[in-house]
Amino acid sequence: MLANLLEGKPLADRIKLEIKAKVEGLSKPPVLASIQVGENAGADVYVKSQRKVSESLGIEYRHEKMAQSTTEEELISLIKKLNTDNSVNGIIIQMPLPAHIDYKKVSNYVASDKDVEGMHPENIGKIIFGKAKVLPCTAAAVMELLNVTGLDLYGKEVVIVGHSEIVGKPLALMLLDKFATVTVCHIGTSKAGKLDEHVRKAEVLIVAVGRAGLIKGEWVKDGAVVIDVGINRVGDKIVGDVEFDEAAKRASWITPVPGGVGPLTVTMLMRNLVEAAKYRDTF
Ligand code: NDP
Repeated sequence: MLANLLEGKPLADRIKLEIKAKVEGLSKPPVLASIQVGENAGADVYVKSQRKVSESLGIEYRHEKMAQSTTEEELISLIKKLNTDNSVNGIIIQMPLPAHIDYKKVSNYVASDKDVEGMHPENIGKIIFGKAKVLPCTAAAVMELLNVTGLDLYGKEVVIVGHSEIVGKPLALMLLDKFATVTVCHIGTSKAGKLDEHVRKAEVLIVAVGRAGLIKGEWVKDGAVVIDVGINRVGDKIVGDVEFDEAAKRASWITPVPGGVGPLTVTMLMRNLVEAAKYRDTF
């Protein structure tokens, strides 16, 4: 069997049409405020892509670039200003930040109703109650891709590899809400030599680690759905965490890397922004 490709772009294009229609229904174009501190080529790429997607959806993108020497206090003061600026609907802090700035500390100052990354403790907490209006973007992208497969998650063995705050942990909660049986593997699982044992039983396998070839293709269960979140540069190629060719012989669905989760992540950010804007629009 050769797996169906679970591509992100066609799905992202479909969701963007829905977002555009919602933007057109708002009383004024929503505004996404972006903050970048210092020079960083990676952040420049994200900003360029976010600006392009925003503009294509009728969203105003306001970028504030601060000097490398900006202090935590100065950054927090800008966040507070944007929190009280009624023309701003969402705030995103570009990563990476300079080493002297603690992301967790400063990001907690973003108002929970302007948190388009879905990472404010209040929004994360709402996932537990199944009441979240905004979801962490990458985890939300994975849920959208799973939806495309048409698989009913009820009672399915889902194995997540990686327990980061932006992917593995929120996903585990979101999948529990669908009554999947969720196993979360991490560095401790690997060190105990038990990673393959868990992966082999996965009917749905989600991997978000950042280590090329960590998941051997032969571990993948026949008919499994495989979502590879990992992004790794190997020579001049970008690859995921799963050995793609071997896994694709066994899986029923598999995401390509690049082209799977990646194209959806920024779309989820825009969806969160429109949800935040809709909420404000009702006042
Ligand atoms: P983190 O580094 O925050 O998390 C990686 C996770 O993998 C941690 O839970 C870590 O455990 C675990 N881990 C590390 N080594 C092993 C191992 N040998 N076996 C099992 N688990 C291990 O990364 P992120 O979650 O931010 O990102 C993960 C990957 O996804 C990266 O490649 C990143 O580039 C990509 N990514 C892709 C996105 C997209 O849009 N496609 C968006 C976001 C991320 P511990 O912390 O205990 O060591």
